[in-house]
Parts: sequence; structure tokens; C-alpha cells
Amino acid sequence: MMIGAQTPNPGRPDRARDMTKAKDTSSEKTFAFDYLERNASEIALLNDNIFYFAELGMQEHETSKLMSGLLEDNGFHIERGISGFPTGFSASWGTGAPVIAVHTEYDSNPDNSQQSGVAEPRAIVEGAPGHCEGHNANGAVMVAGVLAAKAAMERHGLPGTLKVFGAPAEEQLVSRPYFVRDGHFDDVDAALTPHVGAQFNVGYGLIQSALISAIFTFHGESAHAGSAPWKGRDALDAVILMDVGMAEYREHMMPNMMCQRVITHGGDQPNVIPKRAQVWWYFRGSTAQAAHAVFERAKKVAEGAALMSNTTYEVDVQGAVWPVRGNQTLAELVQAEYEQIGAPDWSAEEDALARKLQAAAQASVDGLSRKVTRMSGPAVQKSASNDAGDVSWKVPMAKFYFPSNIPNINFHHWAAGVALATSIAHKGAVAGAKVLAASLIEIFANPAIVAQAKATFAKETEGTAYFSMLPADQKPPVDLNKAMMERFRPEMRKHYLAKRPHFS
Ligand SMILES: [Zn+2]
Repeated sequence: MMIGAQTPNPGRPDRARDMTKAKDTSSEKTFAFDYLERNASEIALLNDNIFYFAELGMQEHETSKLMSGLLEDNGFHIERGISGFPTGFSASWGTGAPVIAVHTEYDSNPDNSQQSGVAEPRAIVEGAPGHCEGHNANGAVMVAGVLAAKAAMERHGLPGTLKVFGAPAEEQLVSRPYFVRDGHFDDVDAALTPHVGAQFNVGYGLIQSALISAIFTFHGESAHAGSAPWKGRDALDAVILMDVGMAEYREHMMPNMMCQRVITHGGDQPNVIPKRAQVWWYFRGSTAQAAHAVFERAKKVAEGAALMSNTTYEVDVQGAVWPVRGNQTLAELVQAEYEQIGAPDWSAEEDALARKLQAAAQASVDGLSRKVTRMSGPAVQKSASNDAGDVSWKVPMAKFYFPSNIPNINFHHWAAGVALATSIAHKGAVAGAKVLAASLIEIFANPAIVAQAKATFAKETEGTAYFSMLPADQKPPVDLNKAMMERFRPEMRKHYLAKRPHFS
């Protein structure tokens, strides 16, 4: 079976949709934009609240409570804890067809605490987790965008159902494959996912890569390392032998495959032969098939390592995601909204901060982006991954970027945290929410777009049957990042904002 095979080129990027027959939606969009501009300070407040929560994957308790609470206060029906994720939720509003899903992540990264607006490395809480990409803005854009769309739908009597998903632990590629596996997208017709970037940007075709995240734990027997090492069976030997095996295999991998690892347990002290040792691997591929092949090979290597060291092993799959793909019809729809809305109007101070930071981070110094990136042909596939991938093979999906961060800065670096609670992030979030609201309005007002998206999706995914790479009985890793978050939360809590947003 071809798994996640290269998307057939859907042809030249012709305008598949006949815009002349589309219902005019300018009054609905004006209504939604007014809503967003009126609530701009609330959007900023939501963005900043999440920034200071800075919660790691699976530990986003405050964040998901705030986001789902806002949706609930505004008439959405909330289901918390979906698929066994304490910090995941789904929120729905409306009735009937089409059912359009919006989903995004809101987790932070370890040791990425960074003060806002300061163009040099300076932590809010030393060593603590922090937002150094902008998933805080993702949360703000999703909530604000769907609230504006809902308000316009209500006002103008547009039928359809909005289904909103809070997706925990994107950084460890965890939640959305579970949501898809457990049927949460079975009734969904199309999906949109906003993501922070440094400019408006959307693409179609394969955008990101597949990944399987798996922890290998080897079990041996402890012994006194000095007086009776022959009585021990060394689990660390197995981890090292697996590493040697994988290093040899790397030479013979296909060019579209990669793997990386960290050793998460190697014993406690040298006078005790380690009875337990553990290594955490990421297996990457441009297709689901490629990532799966690396994983299958790694299990053989682990088996060999266990045999050589007289140990046993078990493997725990933490995440398994398909490569994110963009649907052409939906990408063109979003692109049209980008062009209508345009890049934010940056102030001289905002541009100056961007230039100062770019210089400090030794990036090219060209300030903030005032252009809307043109979409020309299929996207160039990145080797990074996102757990939204599975959704994009289940239903037509667009992943679109909005400008809440500074260009030329690497994510997960202190510099990528600087703009995230400044007016740069705030303006970018309002712009992103406008794009989301306008795209939703366009789809609900012109349901022919859904049929068109489904038709292009069928063509794009021809020959590839989606299946979940997650083991059928796999449960979410609910304790992921728990110890680290508990360690830092008391200090971080002192920086939580006293004021909560309120949309009206
Ligand atoms: Zn992300």
C-alpha cells in the first residue's frame, strides 16, 4: 500500500472556483471586521494572558480553561477532555451543513522564557518554559476569528456548524492524530488552522513532514559494577548499541528520511549497572510511508541491541503524524482574503524593534514585512512537522500563517519570544483573526466551495488511503512535561496578568 505517497501535482494553479457566481459577502465581512477592531484590546489581552501562562504541552490547563471559557461565554457548546486530553477541548456552534473545523495549538517550549520587547536574551523566570514561536497568538487568533465569524453568521443568518478544537502538545506532536483516530473529524467537511509566522503565507501540496516519536526503554539487571559486573545485564549497553546501529543505518536511508534522538535515562551512578535505560527517538519522512519505514527499521535495530546486551525492550509511541498538506481550493480562498486585508500597518517603533532584534540575532536586517506573499504553485516541503498533518489527510485543510512575529528569526530561540506580547503580535493577531473570520464567512455563504475543496482533495490524495499511525490502544501521555511545569509554575504565576479578556 502506498502510504502518504507524494501528492500528484494537481496541475497549474488555475482558479478552480468561479468567483463570478459567488455570493457577495462584503457586509458579513465588514460586520466581522468591526467586531474584531472593536475587540482589538481583548485580542491583545488574550494573546498576552497565554504568553505569560507559557504552558508546556499537555500542561496547558490555564490556557485551555481561558480559551474554552471565552467560547462557552459566547454561546459555544464545549466538550472538555476530548480523547483523554485534560487540556484539549472541542467547541461547537450552529447547526447543519457545512461543518467547518478550526483547530490550533497553544503550548510553549522548555527554557524559552523571554521578556517581551527586550532585544537581548533576558528571561522572565530563569530556566522556565516560554513562548518562543508564538503559539500564544495562535490561541488568540482562533478564538477571536471564530467569535467574529459566529457573530456575522448570526447577524446575517448564515447556516452551518463551526467546530473548534484546542489541540494540546503540538511541540511533541501529540493530540490531533488522536482526535482524528477517535472520530472527532468524521462529520467535518473542511478545516482551517491558523499558525503564527512573520507574514501572511499559505500554500498547498505537501507543506511539512511525517514524524513518529517513540521512547525505547531497555530492561536488564543491576549489579555491583566493581565487585560483580558479570552478574549485571546493562540496559545502557543496549541504548548505545541501538545508537551505533542507527548511526550505521543513517548512511543507507533514503534522502527523504531522518532521525534524531536524546538519551533520557542512562543509569544513576557508575557503581550500579543500570537495569533501566531509555532513549527517545524522532523518525522523520517526507511521507507517512517513509517515517513508518524508519520506525520499523529502528525496532529491528532495538531488537538486535537487546539481543547483544541480553536485555529486553519496550517501545512507547508518543506521537505519530502524517505530513501536513494544504488543499489548493482552500489555500486559494485564504490567499484571496490575504490580498483583500493586506499586511498590518506597522509603526516606526515596531519596525525599529524588529531591526534591533534582527541585528542582535545576527539575522538579515530588513524590519517587518509589509507584503503579502504570493502563492505560486505547490509549497516547498519543510522537514519540520506538525500534528495537524492527520487532519489534512482526513479532510481538505488550509494551514495559514499570520504576521505576529518578526521576520528572519529562528523559532525556539530567545529572539523569537521578543515580539510575542508587543503590539507587533497584537496587530498580527487582529489581522490573522480577520483572515480566519473572512475565510469562514466565505465558505458558509458559498457552500459550493466545500464541494470544490472536496473535489480537489480527492484528486490530491488519489492513491493514498489515510490510516492512523497511532497504535489502536495508544493513550495520550498525560504526564508529559508535568514535573517541569510544576517546578516552574509557582514563580511563573507571579507574572500572570491580573486582567482577563472579555469579548462583546
Ligand atoms: Zn507551531
